[in-house]
Amino acid sequence: MADTPSTEPYKGVRDFYPADWRRLAGVFKKVRGLLESYGYEEYNASPLERSELYESKGNEEIINEQTYTFTDRGDRRVTLRPEMTPTLARMVSAKRRELPFPLRWYNIGNRFRYERPQRGRLREFFQTDIDLVGLPEGDADIEIVSLASAILKTFGAKETDFIIRINSRKLLAAASKAAGLDDESLRVYWQLLDKRSKMTPEAFEEARRSMPGDPLKIVEDGTEPAVAEEKRKLDALIDALAAGGVGNAVYDPGIVRGFDYYTGVIFEVFDTDIKNPRALFGGGRYDGLVALFGGDPIPAVGFAFGDVTFIDFLETHGLLPGFAGAQADLYLGTPTADRTAAQDFARALREQGVRVFVNLTDKSLSDQIKDAVKRGIPYFAAVGSEEAKSGMLKLKTLFTGAEESLPVDDVASRILS
Ligand code: AMP
Repeated sequence: MADTPSTEPYKGVRDFYPADWRRLAGVFKKVRGLLESYGYEEYNASPLERSELYESKGNEEIINEQTYTFTDRGDRRVTLRPEMTPTLARMVSAKRRELPFPLRWYNIGNRFRYERPQRGRLREFFQTDIDLVGLPEGDADIEIVSLASAILKTFGAKETDFIIRINSRKLLAAASKAAGLDDESLRVYWQLLDKRSKMTPEAFEEARRSMPGDPLKIVEDGTEPAVAEEKRKLDALIDALAAGGVGNAVYDPGIVRGFDYYTGVIFEVFDTDIKNPRALFGGGRYDGLVALFGGDPIPAVGFAFGDVTFIDFLETHGLLPGFAGAQADLYLGTPTADRTAAQDFARALREQGVRVFVNLTDKSLSDQIKDAVKRGIPYFAAVGSEEAKSGMLKLKTLFTGAEESLPVDDVASRILS
């Protein structure tokens, strides 16, 4: 006989019971509201993608070590999307002649990465991706970084609760070139910067000294014209952000970002509480990605954030909204097995916008009230033949125990007021 299957979810993924999902869905609702207030539209796609989508360009660590890839029954290689940007680039390229650029798009969906599960890192997580497609560097970069800040602020975060660390791939490239690094040393150097936060300062300095040149030193010196020009652009971006009310963006030479496709500004947002050391948000400009599918390049900038680190941040700062709620507004109790009157009444109330739950069990009325209390449903009323005849209901407010008699026609307005 086969073993009894486990009730545990697969390693590194979560089950969302209704109360858990209500909390996360409540957070997403608030995020959607903020993004839509800036004119961003939600798009969607399947989590199944052809594996080649990620092999053309992306992040080596993610592609080689972290994807869920399999061969389907038709011998096609399939990958569960580890990130959304390649899907977005594919979709934009497919309809490049019809879409009204610039696009302001967002998606909230699941992503899959075969990582070691730990605080802030799971194998399936929800990511919100926000992209502005079709505009070159400049105002679009300012809007995207400002949006990252606006999302946190809409939950009540203060500028002292988080910090936006900004760098530029163009600056890194110019400095690396001026330092005389060849392509291979450049990769090694960027990987070193990317791993910096996981290394001791001594180990970082030692590795830095062993490189054939030191781009960071060139940025600091500021004497190389191409490097100085990129640094000036980055400083101008930070000044523009400050002028627009985003005062906690700083230049950080250590921000590199894992993905290979970035071409301009790159940034990450961090919690200032050391309890949450991982990046909350990450993003940047990727002007070459859409052109991988053919045609002229379409410039784009965007960022993403995961639900796990975001909820940790909100909890740490006491900002997680209490999405209490319940499955219904009104519990209709049934005194007998004949539920016709209750069902008729429920239908009428639903049409008026009340969320109604009708008892279908043979519990006694007092047990039905207990059941309603346990479910957190705020109102209870029993509906039988008597109520059907008189047209009057006794509406019980379960939080207070108060009871009032009122005409059936007034129930909806009473509950919804
Ligand atoms: P990335 O797509 O790697 O730049 O990550 C962007 C954001 O997604 C991070 O800052 C995290 O908030 C989130 N994230 C990335 N990987 C994971 C993971 N394995 N588990 C949970 N969240 C993640």
